[in-house]
Amino acid sequence: MTEITNAFKMAQRQFDHVANRLQLEPQVAEMLRWPTREFKFQIPVKMEDGSTKVFFGYRVQHNDARGPSKGGIRFHPSETMDTVRALAMWMTWKCAVADLPLGGAKGGVAVDSASLARDEKERLCRGWIDQLYRNLGPRLDVPAPDVGTSPQMMSWMMDQYSKAVGEFTPGVITGKPVGSGGSHGRKEATGYGVIYTLREAMKHLKLDPAKTSAAFQGFGNVAQYAALAFSQQLGGKVDCVSFWDHEDKTSYTLCGKDGLNVAFLQGITDEYGTIDKNQAREAGYTLEAGELWIERDVDIIIPAALEGQINAESVTKMSEKVKVVAEGANGPTTPEADEVLAGRGVFVIPDFLCNAGGVTVSYFEGVQNDMNYYWTEEEVLGRLDTKITAAFNKVLALSAGEGVGMRDAAYMVAIGAVVKAMELRGWI
Ligand code: NAD
Repeated sequence: MTEITNAFKMAQRQFDHVANRLQLEPQVAEMLRWPTREFKFQIPVKMEDGSTKVFFGYRVQHNDARGPSKGGIRFHPSETMDTVRALAMWMTWKCAVADLPLGGAKGGVAVDSASLARDEKERLCRGWIDQLYRNLGPRLDVPAPDVGTSPQMMSWMMDQYSKAVGEFTPGVITGKPVGSGGSHGRKEATGYGVIYTLREAMKHLKLDPAKTSAAFQGFGNVAQYAALAFSQQLGGKVDCVSFWDHEDKTSYTLCGKDGLNVAFLQGITDEYGTIDKNQAREAGYTLEAGELWIERDVDIIIPAALEGQINAESVTKMSEKVKVVAEGANGPTTPEADEVLAGRGVFVIPDFLCNAGGVTVSYFEGVQNDMNYYWTEEEVLGRLDTKITAAFNKVLALSAGEGVGMRDAAYMVAIGAVVKAMELRGWI
């Protein structure tokens, strides 16, 4: 059988597998294996050189039975409708597994953010909202940042939406900067959430975090705060991180003999998660082109970049020492690689559970916007830990009770919650 690398086909295959196990009615399964609504639109943008360039934008609302659709906007050159569909579907499961009263959506633009001047980026963000604002809103669909988008971009989008509807509406979008309706703890939320789930997994596996090391793919928002929490809160060793270099158009893996100083690396990393190679070398770190992170002799692997990175081919390079894969990224493991990991007894914390911290604090941000009353960072992170720990332990208990892997158990919790909401609303 040829390996599935199309993210949407992968998401459907994972869903079908659990839908069969749950014996979902065929028409219910059909409703859930496709998005409810899809938008594809042109965004003309005036460029700095006076020309007009047309970009393609997407928004997919997968399911809103449990509440307004929720999900990020990704600016990436290889963005396609199928990637957005997959990510939207995973958002439905993520909100449900974290027990948030929200549905799932995702959006994007096929563009390399780093290739745009600041004003071009602002016009593209405002153009995305112009095309879609009638289908967005705090009670309808609430976007957020993802790969290639930033808090500043969310603020421009919130401003454009507020102008279009004629009233200040911070709750239309989350991941905004603090001071523009954003929540304390949002930038740390996804990475910290990854580490809260990892901490619980290590308790279950009886591993001492201080004696473990981890390799990360990526050094953007998720990986930076996950690496920081892994070293500072759990006392683990960050063995390596990797990143995409926009100039060289290749990826690099950066390692340190005695581990990495994450806070120092953050200081030499740009807003796209690209590390300054010269400064890293001057600090004594080694840099090698390619995806060496997956071959490192570590206890924990944390993919935190893109989909399909742990696949039938790359999984064969993974060290026998690896005990846990904590999926910071969405869809980093193909179903074929998943089988290999299960066969080896590697404990996988599945993406939509592992990285649910971001959407959890996004939900808190929306709640604060609604109340127009803001919480301290301590309150936000405390509530985040409580929610993520509860979600992890619910999935772990089901996994043990049903004798299934963590991914299937997470799907069972999530699909069960969405189907229940659909029943209660009289949709099925
Ligand atoms: P980001 O844009 O901040 O960072 C992405 C990082 O990945 C960068 O360091 C980039 O250089 C690196 N990268 C890209 N291609 C690479 C490659 N081929 N090899 C090695 N490194 C590569 O993105 P992010 O927000 O950190 O998101 C990372 C992943 O986490 C995505 O799958 C995203 O969907 C998922 N996620 C993000 C959030 C969030 O709140 N930001 C929440 C949940 C899930």
